[in-house]
Amino acid sequence: GREIRLASRPQGWPGAENFEIAEVRVPDPAPGQVLVRNLFMSVDPYMRGRMDDRESYVPPFQVGRPLDGGAVGEVVASGAEGIPEGTMVLHGLGWREFALLDAAAVRVVDPAAAPTPSAYLGVLGMTGLTAYAGLLDVAGFREGDAVFVSGAAGAVGSLVGQIAKLRGASRVVGSAGSAQKVAHLVEDLGFDAAFDYHDGPVHRQLRDAAPDGIDVYFDNVGGDHLEAAIGSLRRFGRVALCGAIAQYNETSAPAAPRNLALAIGKELTLRGFIVGSHGHRMPDFVQEVGGWLREGRITWRETVVDGLENAPGAFLGLLRGENTGKMVVRLAG
Ligand code: NDP
Repeated sequence: GREIRLASRPQGWPGAENFEIAEVRVPDPAPGQVLVRNLFMSVDPYMRGRMDDRESYVPPFQVGRPLDGGAVGEVVASGAEGIPEGTMVLHGLGWREFALLDAAAVRVVDPAAAPTPSAYLGVLGMTGLTAYAGLLDVAGFREGDAVFVSGAAGAVGSLVGQIAKLRGASRVVGSAGSAQKVAHLVEDLGFDAAFDYHDGPVHRQLRDAAPDGIDVYFDNVGGDHLEAAIGSLRRFGRVALCGAIAQYNETSAPAAPRNLALAIGKELTLRGFIVGSHGHRMPDFVQEVGGWLREGRITWRETVVDGLENAPGAFLGLLRGENTGKMVVRLAG
């Protein structure tokens, strides 16, 4: 089997040279362990932060060691009671073709309950829960709210907009990085309006798209997007600070938002969150969003890249916006 290791730490934008691929022996599971053949692995923006040697809510990757992250695969050898060969499991040892795990470190998933195993990395997994808990609990979305979401054609953002619509938003506006993505938001996902942030200042485009203002901003981007949202938020508006991808590869401090003081007079709430703290909402999420999925009321896309050797490229592509919906890497199957 093969694995991807961190070859060196990037300064600013990462590149292929920061990764290396290595052949390793496939181990046998000890009692209590399972050997998993990974079918799909996730690439996620937060992995950029783990390439730096900085303490965060997840530990940094180590130079010379394999990367890790969400993956779904099939048990091919088992020393664990109750997890026979052939079981499909979700776990945290992606970036490798075979993963050796303790039984307690895997979650058994039902392949019949998902259209593809990779759904457990996206719409039915961490990504979906981020959208659900971020919108409903962190931003305190209420029926009738006007919502703006950035990174709207991505994995989290595309679900935020659709959940808001299904829960009775008065207006849903999204921003994304290409004309094609903008068309996808309006034509396929049911957004009321969308714009390409390359087409002009975000604050002006947001004002045109939501002339009466917004009540909720779901922030995936930070910077000028957050500044524009602060400008457009109405009194008692709420912001879920989910991500700030515009600054993940920057080496200097962000220039925006410059208008944070507006939050005082407007009595805004800006609240950061990490999805790991919202695990208790998983059952509600699975019931509500899972139901919409079965009824065909949620549209979700994946961008699938084939082969472990192309995983670094998939990750770098994610940071450049080459994905629509969830970016995943297919390793087998
Ligand atoms: P996405 O599928 O949204 O992929 C990232 C997208 O970011 C790209 O497709 C690209 O789309 C966009 N992007 C890249 N650079 C910029 C930029 N400079 N300005 C605006 N957009 C940019 O990834 P996820 O859905 O997995 O994650 C979305 C956000 O949510 C990220 O910020 C991530 O860190 C955060 N997150 C936070 C979690 C938490 O627990 N708080 C959990 C999961 C994700 P485009 O073409 O539109 O530019």
